[in-house]
Amino acid sequence: MNILNYINGNFHNPISNEWIDNYNPSNGEVYGQIPNSTKDDVENAYIAAKSAFPIWSKTTLEERSRILIKISELLEANLQRFAEAESKDNGKPISLAKAVDIPRAASNFRFFGNAITQFASESHESVGQNAINYTLRQPIGVVGCISPWNLPLYLFTWKIAPAIAAGNCVVAKPSEVTPMTAYLLGEICNEAGLTKGVLNIVHGLGGSTGQAIVEHPDIKAISFTGGTATGTHIAKVAAPMFKKLSLELGGKNPNIIFADCDYDDMLETTVRSSFANQGQICLCGSRIFVEASIYDKFKIDFVAKVKALKVGHPSEDDTNIGALVSKSHFEKVKSYITNAESEAGKILCGGNEVTLKGYEKGYYLQPTIIEVKSNSCKLNQEEIFGPVVTTMPFETEEEALELANNVKYGLSATLWTNNLKRTMRMSNDLQAGIVWVNTWMMRDLRTPFGGVKASGVGREGGFEALRFFTEAKNVCIKY
Ligand code: NDP
Repeated sequence: MNILNYINGNFHNPISNEWIDNYNPSNGEVYGQIPNSTKDDVENAYIAAKSAFPIWSKTTLEERSRILIKISELLEANLQRFAEAESKDNGKPISLAKAVDIPRAASNFRFFGNAITQFASESHESVGQNAINYTLRQPIGVVGCISPWNLPLYLFTWKIAPAIAAGNCVVAKPSEVTPMTAYLLGEICNEAGLTKGVLNIVHGLGGSTGQAIVEHPDIKAISFTGGTATGTHIAKVAAPMFKKLSLELGGKNPNIIFADCDYDDMLETTVRSSFANQGQICLCGSRIFVEASIYDKFKIDFVAKVKALKVGHPSEDDTNIGALVSKSHFEKVKSYITNAESEAGKILCGGNEVTLKGYEKGYYLQPTIIEVKSNSCKLNQEEIFGPVVTTMPFETEEEALELANNVKYGLSATLWTNNLKRTMRMSNDLQAGIVWVNTWMMRDLRTPFGGVKASGVGREGGFEALRFFTEAKNVCIKY
């Protein structure tokens, strides 16, 4: 199936008529083509967005809200179709796409459709000076949204929904590896009655299509989720143009387990926080630190649970671990496993490719646990972004904190303990944008989301996202 660019409410071939193969990672076969868009396609998308802006930015909040909620309802009505498309493009189990990715994409539109009607600005009376200040929150204009392949529609809509709710028009690019659900979203937007040109989707390679969005002088803000190296590059390109930037980047998150935690709950959740979506979630707890007194028991129980996970075809209901997203990513993840021993790592379970009958060219890997001796090894310092976690014991709370923070990233941290004072101390001192205590990936869309250090700049989520996608203008009136 071929994918087309969605510009001004219509579907278009790329101007160059050049195409890129789209692979199904579950069988390693090409199943369609996507546009290899150039600067000219991005320019057309920009022109459509610019033309729609005067109308959309003046559309009432009630009407914007109605359309966003309609998009949400249509996504829910098309759950099966979208989940199948997401799974085919990404390799994730259909059951996961049905339970998480597509419902969350629908929630993004519903949430921001409602949030925009509650988004208030401030006013300040300058007492004794006969003056009043009020702050306008004005949409920026045309904004760019660029998203990765791991949670394709989930993260694409996490950006688009607040951007359009706030009155902006958008030029967006999904990852070239997982373009399908973004393509299908265009149809849904038309059906929901979204004003033509408010959302424009150009498909293509990061280094050309994505780069053209970032380089466009009149696309005034970029919301980007992806790797830290790409984020660094985007920041450099955008800086001379003073673009507003939101960068949600990589993570190498600690999962810190104390002996006083609710053990069974911790074990269940740790399996999920390690291997959900084949470990390809920026929030996965890929470095597991366990209090020494329960370390040996933990290893035995964790390995047993992980060995029981089924690596299988994404379409099978009982599959826990599907295919990795692409051949190049598969090779990258495998290289960390191959080099584990040279870093004094000991593979406790997994470590091998899996060949599925009938899908021999698919990118399947066993969920892998590697015990490490030091936090400074590559396995603990570099983002692997696959079904690979490390374990290591610690003796004291101070040591656990030191291990957790001793990494360039700072996206999220998970803490397992029933000690309230320790919870408060460690939550204050962990270097992360998000701390989960006795849970993982519990998301309330009103809360700020983002990282510190090399995990990014800025916050999305809730009113933070609406603040990012608007400019604050203060008006001072003397009376
Ligand atoms: P990349 O950084 O490679 O790509 C992300 C997006 O940017 C893709 O759409 C990509 O296009 C595009 N892109 C690549 N180069 C450029 C460029 N020069 N200019 C503009 N756009 C460009 O990340 P991945 O897709 O590999 O995603 C995995 C990464 O995303 C991991 O590091 C993960 O931690 C991070 N991530 C962070 C999250 C967070 O919230 N902090 C959430 C989810 C993932 P294309 O794919 O076509 O090359």
